[in-house]
Amino acid sequence: MVSEKANKIGESPTLKVTAKAKAMKAEGIDIIDLSVGEPDFPSPDNVKEAGIRAIEENFTKYTQNDGIPDLKQAIIARLREDQGLIYTKNEVMVSTGAKSSLYHLIQALINDGDEVIIPSPYWVTYPHAVSLANGKGVIVSTKEENGFLMTPDELKSAITPATKALILNNPSNPTGAAYPRHSLESLADVVMEEDIFVIADEVYEKLVYDDFRFYSFASLGEEIKKKTIVISGVSKSYSMTGWRIGYAAGPADIIDSMAKIQSHSTSNPCSISQKASLEALRGPQYDVSKMVSEFQRRRNYVLMRLQSLPEVSCLKPQGAFYLFPNFSSTYQKEFNSMPIRNSYGLAYYLLKEARVAVVPGDAFGADACIRLSYATSMEDLEKALDRIIEAVSRLKTAKKVKYIALNNTITRVKKSVPVDSSVSLSMRDALVAEMEDSLSYDNYFEWNANINGVIVQLRTNVSHLNDFWVENWYPAQLEADIEPHGIIYAVDGVPGRESRGFYNSETKTGVLVNTDNYSPLRSLALGLVTDVSERLFSTYALRGMSGEVNGEGLVLMGPKGTKKSDIFYGLLQDSENRLHSTDILFVRFSGGRALADSVERKLLIPTNTVQFYPELASLFDNSKCENVIIRKENCQDTECLRTDDCRLDRGSPFCYKASQNSVSLLDPYWIEGPAKHTKRIGIKWIFILRYDTSSPPAVKMEDEDALRIVESGQSPGLKTAISPPKSHPFFNPHLLVTTPERLEYQKRFFRQLFQHAKCYLFNSGIATIDDIKRIVKGESPPEIKG
Ligand code: PMP
Repeated sequence: MVSEKANKIGESPTLKVTAKAKAMKAEGIDIIDLSVGEPDFPSPDNVKEAGIRAIEENFTKYTQNDGIPDLKQAIIARLREDQGLIYTKNEVMVSTGAKSSLYHLIQALINDGDEVIIPSPYWVTYPHAVSLANGKGVIVSTKEENGFLMTPDELKSAITPATKALILNNPSNPTGAAYPRHSLESLADVVMEEDIFVIADEVYEKLVYDDFRFYSFASLGEEIKKKTIVISGVSKSYSMTGWRIGYAAGPADIIDSMAKIQSHSTSNPCSISQKASLEALRGPQYDVSKMVSEFQRRRNYVLMRLQSLPEVSCLKPQGAFYLFPNFSSTYQKEFNSMPIRNSYGLAYYLLKEARVAVVPGDAFGADACIRLSYATSMEDLEKALDRIIEAVSRLKTAKKVKYIALNNTITRVKKSVPVDSSVSLSMRDALVAEMEDSLSYDNYFEWNANINGVIVQLRTNVSHLNDFWVENWYPAQLEADIEPHGIIYAVDGVPGRESRGFYNSETKTGVLVNTDNYSPLRSLALGLVTDVSERLFSTYALRGMSGEVNGEGLVLMGPKGTKKSDIFYGLLQDSENRLHSTDILFVRFSGGRALADSVERKLLIPTNTVQFYPELASLFDNSKCENVIIRKENCQDTECLRTDDCRLDRGSPFCYKASQNSVSLLDPYWIEGPAKHTKRIGIKWIFILRYDTSSPPAVKMEDEDALRIVESGQSPGLKTAISPPKSHPFFNPHLLVTTPERLEYQKRFFRQLFQHAKCYLFNSGIATIDDIKRIVKGESPPEIKG
């Protein structure tokens, strides 16, 4: 039912960890929560009294939309006193929390497609707030060795003609990094040369340590002030998170627009909270300094304890109440044969084994780190650090660790393996017993993946397959106690057995014997998930290449030989088009639309895709690949050998041209970050591809005709295609269960899909990418029928 915009927003990972920690606490487990984002002190007494007074004096009605004049005056006075900033009343507004000021500001500032630079690690809300305004977040990674401060060069190189604003969070959540004046000045020099605004989120301004002097970005000069909107509030500085008061100060026209947006959304912030905030800003500031000195003491303590972990580095931050240590040295280590793969894995391990809740750094765009909040009592911090240090010391270096990203494995089985999907229950039991027997204790990997909401457990003795499993699917770690919906055994080295797959639909059990290649495992998993999600969630698998073209979801369907990849990667060359999935989408109908999710973290792409998308070459070089040619003596490509122009001689780790059967796991974010990749689309266009030299270039399809083609799995005109296709119903070789009843389900799904999307039969033998672009833009060229 909900909108596409809303669908794109994930639940805050911070809240997810906190929720899991709370659930464990509720079960009576003694959890120490270092994931919190608010001071643990009560609001100051004078503030509480002012709130009570406001109620007693019946100050409980609507107020001025943009805040009561007294409070605006107090904000102006505080900015003048603290920062020497001079604002007038029409340059200041009060909102329901700084978050709400920020949201109104972004709505007021950003047009569709405007770029907003967000230095990472970033506060999780920024990218979402920008995308809700149809802007494009441009993530710029800052470096730990630069203290996580953005450098002028990093800023400069991210600016394009489409850049509208930079969000500068100082001091930063999650790193605690605070910008000294000279660093701010060097960024201001860049900003002054450009036509961009600075959104200065300074909510942690008062929480700075070691005599650090905080400067507001707006305070650097009159000209920079005109380009800066300061966002701040009382939540963090006065321990008033629940009161929900934040404010913004900036150019009058921007503040005015924000106030208009506010007047039609939240209206005035809470009257009582405004009175309490007035007291916070105007009254004695003693409680702030008390809180700051306590935070400083705790920060020093936690830092000192972290230093006892030789392989963990941590910046000494001068602001906020977070530490952001780099724990990546623990990744690849293992506990009970279960490797820690990333910050999610570590957070989960610490929750389970140390009973300490932390936030995985990946949530903030920095997977090497975790975020520890020290807004909790010293006693709890001591206990938490004891537990973390002890749990980390229990991690063992894995026996079969691959330290390098590049892992060119030549696997034994190259092609897909036959799968018998009509295994009986007794056969299933016998197979499981045989597999369990073959899985030895010391070389055993087990991991729950969350594939489109279906939890699939892998049990394997092939570390290579386990790597794939853990990297490719979203982990189900945080809910690992739940029962999986299905189980796959992937067992190698079983004597007397051919390479083969088995599937029992009743028990949702998959078995793969004697293969060590990604593709059969992936295919079996997708088949199992299709089987489960059709029945449980009315979600269906659609095989195709998908993306967002001209802002709308588009799917290319068709068998091999229809130039699907050429067209797909061709469409992606346009900077505004975004990649969704290269192989499979899970579709459900909601709110009158067909919503499709891409459920894989990585793209399993043939390495020769580089032919269509040369930008990918360097990414392949740094990716995990299977079956690639890494030595010249194994190369069969006589053409290259003759010219002596060999990539391998030029230092490339492998040759994509010679590696005809090779695939690679690529992270879609490597292509161009989130601007180029989306996880959910609403399908508006479907192009069923055919390939010949005589049929019309593009024909608008009636639903029933389209249905007939996909059902047959055979694209018209493919007789002349480059390679003869093997037909699969609905073009989907991942379908495991093909009983007449299940095929009828599929048919019903496609019939519904074609009612939601516009479908064209597209002849890639004649028509070009530009024709697709024209159709999508509604300018169908005259030669197109229908
Ligand atoms: N900005 C940052 C960087 C934050 O960390 C937070 C709170 N987590 C906010 C803004 C929002 O503060 P408020 O409670 O005033 O909405």
